[in-house]
Amino acid sequence: MEVKEKAKIVITVASLVAVTVLFVTEYRRRRRHRRKQTSSLSSCYLHSEVRPQFGFKRVLADNSYSEFKHLKLDDASSSTEKASNCHHPYESEITVLLENTKIEFGFLRGECSLKMSDSYVWVEMESQLKKLAEVLAKEKVFAVDTEQHSLRSFLGFTALVQISTHEEDFLVDTIALHDAMSILRPVFSDPNICKVFHGADNDVLWLQRDFHIYVVNMFDTAKACEVLSKPQRSLAYLLEAVCGVATNKLLQREDWRQRPLSKEMVQYARTDAHYLLYIADALTAELKQLATEDSSSPDDTFHFLLEASRRSNMTCLQLYTKEIEDFPGSAAASSIIYRHLNGHGDTSTIALNAEELVRKICAWRDLMARIHDESMRYVLPDQAVVALACKQPTTTEEIYGTIAHTDLATESSPSLSSSVQSPYPVICSHLDDIYHMILNKLAKLDDILPVVLKKCLGTNGTCPISVFNYSLLLNFKTKLSSHSAPKQNGHKNFKQFTRKASRELFVKKFSCKAPVYHNCRIYANDGRLLCYCDKRKLEWYLNRGLAKLVEEDPPAIMLLFEPKGRPEDEGNDFYIQTKRNICVGCGEGKHYLRYRIIPSCYRVHFPEHLKSHRSHDIVLLCVDCHEVAHAAAERYKKQIATEFGIPLFVRRVIDSKEAQGTSSLTEDESMVNSEDAGVSPLHLRSAAMALLRHGNRMPSSRREELLQIVKMYYGGRDISEDDLERALLIGLSPHERRRRERKQGVSLKHSAEVARLDKQENGKKDENNDGEGPADSEKIMNVERSTVADDSGDGGTSEGDGAAELNDAQCNGNTLHQQNSKLSLLGHGPHGKQIVEYLLREYGEDGVRDFCQRWRKVFVDAVHPRHLPGGWNVSHSGRRDFGEFSVYNPTKRLSTE
Ligand code: AMP
Ligand code: MN
Ligand code: ZN
Repeated sequence: MEVKEKAKIVITVASLVAVTVLFVTEYRRRRRHRRKQTSSLSSCYLHSEVRPQFGFKRVLADNSYSEFKHLKLDDASSSTEKASNCHHPYESEITVLLENTKIEFGFLRGECSLKMSDSYVWVEMESQLKKLAEVLAKEKVFAVDTEQHSLRSFLGFTALVQISTHEEDFLVDTIALHDAMSILRPVFSDPNICKVFHGADNDVLWLQRDFHIYVVNMFDTAKACEVLSKPQRSLAYLLEAVCGVATNKLLQREDWRQRPLSKEMVQYARTDAHYLLYIADALTAELKQLATEDSSSPDDTFHFLLEASRRSNMTCLQLYTKEIEDFPGSAAASSIIYRHLNGHGDTSTIALNAEELVRKICAWRDLMARIHDESMRYVLPDQAVVALACKQPTTTEEIYGTIAHTDLATESSPSLSSSVQSPYPVICSHLDDIYHMILNKLAKLDDILPVVLKKCLGTNGTCPISVFNYSLLLNFKTKLSSHSAPKQNGHKNFKQFTRKASRELFVKKFSCKAPVYHNCRIYANDGRLLCYCDKRKLEWYLNRGLAKLVEEDPPAIMLLFEPKGRPEDEGNDFYIQTKRNICVGCGEGKHYLRYRIIPSCYRVHFPEHLKSHRSHDIVLLCVDCHEVAHAAAERYKKQIATEFGIPLFVRRVIDSKEAQGTSSLTEDESMVNSEDAGVSPLHLRSAAMALLRHGNRMPSSRREELLQIVKMYYGGRDISEDDLERALLIGLSPHERRRRERKQGVSLKHSAEVARLDKQENGKKDENNDGEGPADSEKIMNVERSTVADDSGDGGTSEGDGAAELNDAQCNGNTLHQQNSKLSLLGHGPHGKQIVEYLLREYGEDGVRDFCQRWRKVFVDAVHPRHLPGGWNVSHSGRRDFGEFSVYNPTKRLSTE
């Protein structure tokens, strides 16, 4: 018995252990499996890679399917809007050069030196670039060459621009200065400065593509070689033949993104530009020589030289365009099929199958290259496409195996492939696409792209959104529908998967384009710091001779008059805090939007002098914190609406129980919204107020009108004076009701004298209330539906610098597509105005100040801001007087002269 018991226990324990072990093993297996799955699905290699071009703030040519937009000059004299994109912005200047028969070759100094010094100028800062532009503006001629990077970029980008004058070699780091390169635009388009290139066809287009730089007045030494019928036209040849300099052209294919550049690369880059002036000098001499030898009349003297010049400037007329295909990847697919598949003339099903797969893979490759900003060959080289299409591997291992021996190194330089960790990172992180395509799960070519795009860039997409790919989502719909008629449901989810892009776009569109706080300073005439502010404010004082500039960068002024107050007087150093250009919520510094803590729908109606202390109530927020703050504000608006009985949207109100005649109104009963009966609490209150105060004196028709409003509220029954008084309390919070009762109840009920005083105190506004009756309701409803100008009264004293500001409409939604729902939030009809009027009427300016504090608290509670400027607090009073010359002085509003 005992043995049996023991055995039982042992068996039980053993089986328990076994089950546990099994369970744990299975769990681990599953977890491993899941991890593997998610890693292949959701982690794109780009999340762990730093790409230099992702630091660019603006790209002129992105990877979308839309066409490239050329520079539009303001003084585009004759050309129409439409024509300007296919017209060269400097067409007329270049035409003048082409037709000119008496070109002055100012660079013919005949004293070019071959010597290349040990020093050169590395230009990587905006200030240096500006200096360079100044230097070049004084030259008659300079030499240019560019290096671009193309393997790890879809369209390629200029990684270096080499510029040489007779005196110096400049290497411009166009990665660091990508967004500042427009500084060089004027010297490049200046027809009085000759730019010497060698083989400029690509450089001219690349400069347009990346920087909207257009070359006007060029001498291309390769074109000179053409005219001179030189045996070779390469720069290496000219360097050798003309300058006796040897160069290793293999360096041309180096990775020009690398920093710092190796000594060899610097030497190579300088060499490409440095000798061009010397070579141009030598070749023009030859051209002239040829002209005199060849010509029978002296008019032909410049014939050859002019021809070289003309051919060079023809190059300048080229315009960069993006390749637009019938269908993504179709050109490459056709080429691959022609080169690798059709050679056999095979029309078997297998061969046709392979062709179809090539088209699919090429379409997919095209999209992947655009999404990740990679070249096609980096995503998947042609040989790999062919291998996949022919072998049609069916497992992920086989797919790897198939593409593994089509080596990347065969397509690019060894130095590049060695710097890449895995041979095909795009394939590795998006292997399942290939897998499904081969298994034919995505039957139609047209269907592949929306699915892939959604998976990569849609909500919870696998890949990062960048300046290169964000607009891919936006014009993708049109791109596809213009070539095929996809099934209706093909774009059903479009809205969903553009959400992520919308957020990014939202950031782009509404985030401030320049730092909001310039940290300019204003000093009092005794040298004490008064405040930090923006440039516009400084200029306002400077333009009026009210201040003098005392420091340049960042600028500071000293007031020439005695300011009325000092910030320290108030024991508040808020005004002399340097405000940082970061999100006050989370500290994000990459982007930020202005956020108004006090919603504009109220603030616009504040008296001018309460409006002016905006610096306190406009803060910077990133989109995410913005969303949180905005949502909280919208909720709070609703609360305010209920509390004050002033609805956001005009709704009719009825007390249902009253309508049924069952009970009388209690304090807790609030509005019941109904579409067919009822009245807005505001109307109800103003009608009741008017009746109580002037009931006896008003014309009976008007009196009847107002009575109808109140009756509507009470379900149509006859009403007493008590009913009127209770109607005044509808929609108020208990606290408000008590306050109101204390303030007005007595007067209304018992004392005609107090009521009369009351009336005088409220003055005009009271009269206005009389006018608000049902006749106006139609008007109000219309306002609700239409748009209400948002905060338009602010422009003048704006602290802004042209940076984008959000209004309520723009706040509504990171989805920019919802035009209709946008409208519903605009301005909230009369709500804001009525609230502010109510506050002023009931509590005066203190009411408005309290109101502001409430909003600040709402903001703080919602966002928990960790980066508010020192001195910021919820109870900031904003009570400051204005000096005579203050920009905030209501009578001295900043005007735009
Ligand atoms: P270059 O005109 O020699 O200064 O070349 C300018 C840029 O063109 C280089 O930085 C390369 O990106 C590209 N490039 C020119 N020739 C080749 C080539 N044979 N192979 C690869 N890239 C080239
Ligand atoms: Mn070069
Ligand atoms: Zn990816």
